[in-house]
Amino acid sequence: MAKDYPVIIAGGGPVGLALAADLGWRGVSCLVLEQTDGSIPQPKMLTVGARTMEYCRRWGIAREVRAAAIPRDYPRVSLYATSFRGKEIYRFTAPGPGTNSWPWGPEPRERCAQTLFDPILKKFAASQASVRVRHQCKLVALVQTPECVIATVENHALTIPPILGA
Ligand SMILES: Cc1cc2nc3c(=O)[nH]c(=O)nc-3n(C[C@H](O)[C@H](O)[C@H](O)COP(=O)(O)OP(=O)(O)OC[C@H]3O[C@@H](n4cnc5c(N)ncnc54)[C@H](O)[C@@H]3O)c2cc1C
Repeated sequence: MAKDYPVIIAGGGPVGLALAADLGWRGVSCLVLEQTDGSIPQPKMLTVGARTMEYCRRWGIAREVRAAAIPRDYPRVSLYATSFRGKEIYRFTAPGPGTNSWPWGPEPRERCAQTLFDPILKKFAASQASVRVRHQCKLVALVQTPECVIATVENHALTIPPILGA
C-alpha cells in the first residue's frame, strides 16, 4: 500500500517537529517519520532561544513552554570544569527571567529542557489536522521519478510499503 504526502519530514527532533508544527499551522499536509519511539534518553538542549520562543508565541504554546521551564528561583549558574570532580575553569550566572535581558523582542529565551520542550512541540504538531507523526518509522531510501519522490520506510513493528511524496 502506498500513500501520497506533499511533504515528508525525516526526523522528529526539534527541527522536524517545528517544521511540522509550522506547516500544520498553515494547513499544509505532512508526515513526520521518527525512527525512535520518541523518548529522549540524553537531552541535547536546555535553552529555548528568543527566536524559537517567538515561533512558540505564534503557535500559541509560549505560555505552556514557560510553565514547563526550570523554576524561576532555581540558580542560573553554569560552570565549566575538567570533569565532574575536576578543576573549575569558568563560571557565569545567566540573567534571571525577571531582568530585562531581551529588550529587542516580546519573548526572551527560556530554560526549558528538551525532555520537556519536545513533548509540547510534538503535542502541538500532532494536534494539527494536516500533520501525522509516526514513531519507529525509519526513512531508508528516496527515489526521484518525473512525477514524484518515492520514499521507502521501515517500520520497526510492522512492514510498511513505499510512501509516495509529491
Ligand atoms: C550538548 C548539546 C547541548 C545543546 N544545547 C542546546 C541548547 O541549549 N539550545 C539549543 O537551541 N540547542 C542546543 N543544542 C543544539 C540542539 O540540540 C540541536 O540544534 C537540535 O537537536 C537539532 O535538532 P534536529 O531535529 O535537527 O536534530 P536531532 O535532535 O539530532 O533530531 C534528529 C532526529 O531525526 C531522527 N532520524 C535521523 N535519521 C532518521 C531517518 N532516516 N528516519 C527517521 N528518523 C530519523 C533521529 O532519531 C532524531 O530523533 C545542543 C546540542 C548539544 C550536542
